[in-house]
Amino acid sequence: MRPLLARRSLLSLAAACPLCAATAVRAQTAPHDAHDAPHWSYEGAGGPEKWGELSADFRTCSLGTQQTPVDLLVGIRAQTGPVAFRYQKMPLTVLNNGHTIQVNAPAGSHVMLGDTSYELLQFHFHHPSEHLLAGKGFEMEGHFVHRAANGALAVVGVFIKPGAANAALAPIWQAMPDKEAPATAIPGVTVDTAALLPKDRVYFRYMGSLTTPPCTEGITWTVFRAPVEASPEQIRRFATLFPLNARPVQPLNRRFLLESGA
Ligand SMILES: [Zn+2]
Repeated sequence: MRPLLARRSLLSLAAACPLCAATAVRAQTAPHDAHDAPHWSYEGAGGPEKWGELSADFRTCSLGTQQTPVDLLVGIRAQTGPVAFRYQKMPLTVLNNGHTIQVNAPAGSHVMLGDTSYELLQFHFHHPSEHLLAGKGFEMEGHFVHRAANGALAVVGVFIKPGAANAALAPIWQAMPDKEAPATAIPGVTVDTAALLPKDRVYFRYMGSLTTPPCTEGITWTVFRAPVEASPEQIRRFATLFPLNARPVQPLNRRFLLESGA
């Protein structure tokens, strides 16, 4: 009874919506249940070279032509418009998702790219940096993930190099969980997110992707050329938790890499 029912419901689905039927078939034949996301990592069998094969949902990781990160070599000088941050100090909510330390942002912080407002959703960190600057990496990189009202994503990247202790990172580092842990609000602790941005706002701009599966494309990337600093001890602490959580650089292909004129 069951197979027949399943086939009949699939057939009616196929008539109504070919894409839905494909999803239903995939759900039936998937080796794990739908709640068990495929395991991906930064090294070994689940490493970046294999991401595209781990799941049908991850195919863009290997087939995509607009992938992130890239080596920021020579940008085309262009009138790329201002990047205006309207970040508010926020109560700290931090999690360790097994791939990085992430701070979730409450509503109210935005970045303006030209005339479009993107709301800050979260920011997180990579060690070492994912982007390269003219072939050279930095110790770390922060990613500030934003979404516009129409669903479009914009990510701002900030390199981090060893130097003075970073006061804006300190409360996050104090609260970050050593092991995978759900989002936790830290009472009485606020984060000055704007203080994590460099003062020199010359930036690179290109169209890219998420740097983790499913590697979704169509994301507007803004990466500042100037790094901010963190103490060697701060960098070491993060590196102890995440010795390597950076995807290797991807080919630029036919994309334009722009550099702001400022
Ligand atoms: Zn990232």
